[in-house]
Amino acid sequence: SIDFRRVAERVDEYRVNIENRKVGADVERVLELYEGYRASVTELTAIRTKKNENSAQMKKIKTMTQEDKDACIKEGKALKEQSQVLEDKTRELEAELNAEGSKLPNLTHPDVPVGEEANATVLRVVGEQRDFDFPIRSHLDLGLDLDMFDFENAAIVTGQKFYYLRNAGALLELALINWAMSIAASRGFTPMTTPDLAREGMVQGCGFQPRGPESQVYRVDETDLCLVGTAEIPLAGYYAGKILDKEALPIKMAAFSHCFRQEVGGAGSAVRGLYRVHQFSKVELFVIATEDQSDEIHQELRAMEEEMFESLGLHFKTLDMPTEDLGNPAYRKFDIEAWMPARGESGSYGEISSASNCTDYQARRLNIRYREGKGDNKFAHTLNGTACAVPRMIVAILENNQQEDGSVVVPEVLRPYLGGMDVIRPSP
Ligand code: AMP
Repeated sequence: SIDFRRVAERVDEYRVNIENRKVGADVERVLELYEGYRASVTELTAIRTKKNENSAQMKKIKTMTQEDKDACIKEGKALKEQSQVLEDKTRELEAELNAEGSKLPNLTHPDVPVGEEANATVLRVVGEQRDFDFPIRSHLDLGLDLDMFDFENAAIVTGQKFYYLRNAGALLELALINWAMSIAASRGFTPMTTPDLAREGMVQGCGFQPRGPESQVYRVDETDLCLVGTAEIPLAGYYAGKILDKEALPIKMAAFSHCFRQEVGGAGSAVRGLYRVHQFSKVELFVIATEDQSDEIHQELRAMEEEMFESLGLHFKTLDMPTEDLGNPAYRKFDIEAWMPARGESGSYGEISSASNCTDYQARRLNIRYREGKGDNKFAHTLNGTACAVPRMIVAILENNQQEDGSVVVPEVLRPYLGGMDVIRPSP
């Protein structure tokens, strides 16, 4: 349910916001449809009143002259036809209004920088680039030599951009997941594992496009199910249609799931390795909050993620992402980019995590509300953040912690989850 009254009241803000985000939405068209829809509803109400009056008259038809009877019946017929036509028109206008309205992006936090990705504000830098006194190798070369990945057999079974993890690779994935889930649980997030599929309506409700040439979503043939691109979808869906007690908020959840992405038209699609793949494991943080809580919780998510990546010994920067990078649902987005010394020609920062405050954008589509006072239900705010997207963690750990002999030092915080393994070495 889109707040068209808010759109009408803040039309200039919406217009500038659409321009700044460079998204395909047309606020003027939305308003035109909204006016048309409201006029049609008013007209329909008037016709229905007349119809009721006519029905009341019909009850007295026995007392009428023949002439009045004929007129009354004729009027009744005409009103029925008119109301039918208007009902159809109103329904069509409503459908068009909702379709156009759903293209409107969320409004934007006042501190968000305007423009393209390069305009991001650097909020924080942690650590620094390591100096190597030997030739740097890519995570792919390191992992293949350590027998941690297998892309060749995955290409046979599933195609390009799939992989098997083996030996220390498989154990590292599970260690990362357990590490992230344990931290989240200790910070009051309910640990969950979620379905890897969700209905199309849930995917759409979260602001993803399950159909169309640019869709990143895999759909399951002959069902209304999609493979989820993130656990954000089943976690948001968990509360769809619910009215929550205000005292119960914020609700904090952390979920492990697999994530599936078509990565159509993705930048660097030719890049080999784990950086951009079709399936990966991820621990996602998801929060349902009141409108007064969401900005502060967004900062909390950011601080928690920074603390986690710092404890892994990574060098990274936190960015306040600019308008053109926000997509539709996010009101504000903090990305964390870690240094990957073998990425590109001479190393580069790669996104490892993203935390968004979606305010009421998803809650309106999924109908997640909370009670505020008697009979006053408000739409909740939703937030999501990446605690641990496994493949890019592996890229960063392997490339930053490599040693001259091709072994890789395991970050101390992960060792308890790896049976104490401190270095990943080639099998003898
Ligand atoms: P997003 O949900 O798009 O914000 O992505 C969350 C995190 O998942 C990113 O910060 C990346 O670490 C990771 N990620 C996204 N897409 C991929 C992909 N195709 N392959 C591997 N990791 C990915």
